[in-house]
Amino acid sequence: MADTIYVIGHRHPDTDSVCSAIALAHLKNALGAAGVRPARAGELNPETRYVLDRFALPAPELLVDGTGQQLILVDHNEVAQALHDVRGATVLEVWEHHRIGDLDIPRPIVFHCEPVGATATLIAEQFVVNDVEIPPAIAGGLLAAILSDTLVFASPTCSDKDRRMARRLETIAGVDALALGADLMRARGDLAARSAADIVEADFKEFDLAGHRVGIAQVETLDAAPLVARRREFVDALRRIQAEKGLLQAIMLVTDITRKGSHVWVVGERREVVEQALGQPLVDQAMYVDGCMSRKKQVVPPLDRAFARTGTASGPG
Ligand code: MN
Ligand code: MN
Repeated sequence: MADTIYVIGHRHPDTDSVCSAIALAHLKNALGAAGVRPARAGELNPETRYVLDRFALPAPELLVDGTGQQLILVDHNEVAQALHDVRGATVLEVWEHHRIGDLDIPRPIVFHCEPVGATATLIAEQFVVNDVEIPPAIAGGLLAAILSDTLVFASPTCSDKDRRMARRLETIAGVDALALGADLMRARGDLAARSAADIVEADFKEFDLAGHRVGIAQVETLDAAPLVARRREFVDALRRIQAEKGLLQAIMLVTDITRKGSHVWVVGERREVVEQALGQPLVDQAMYVDGCMSRKKQVVPPLDRAFARTGTASGPG
């Protein structure tokens, strides 16, 4: 019907896109806008199917073409990520946590973008701001979305607000966030059967960086989550290999091909050099470097420069 306004996330929808759409549509309905409905711009992934199933949330309807539609965009604002012909739609609002994209909207709209870990956090906040109760099932979906996008709070995109909202949602949904996070990681697909040490050693290269011996392992995967969930194992394996080879530093890149970035795990004495090189703080020996895919082009050169700047090229032993 012509009065329908669809809330829709990006193509190749993830849990954040789908659950944010469901939740925002519910909020709009609760605030009196009856024609607002959730939609999805593609097939559901296994994790999202698990989430909808677990919280008994109906799957939003599939909407592949924006032509002539009235849309509220969640979790994206770039044309290339949106459903087909988003420029042919009337975009009424955007709720978002990515970079500002290329939608040229020739009139003032609600455009709410914040650098938080998940759009779901911003939608959850809107329930609070508007004093609307979050139904437990929707709270479960929003919590799952936060956990999914932040890789269970491990991603550097995760903010205090995400954690705050997650705690609130945890209570409403009556689920434990970490347990739900683990369930999501499982739902993404089977964990690799290989040991952490095996994976670390499979592609482990040593480098001389301004006189320092540094080892950098890399594993590339379409879904880093199962490996991220095993971070402790990998850090232990890195420690062993660092000691075994007498390296100043051992680093692991878990490159998420889908997400186009790398989880970087670091052991050794000179963690601050890695922080300088990659421009991010290590929290619990870990960082996520958005856009970082190549060890040789994007990691080794800045590390080499950063080690050179320290001026203390006294190798280990
Ligand atoms: Mn997303
Ligand atoms: Mn998101």
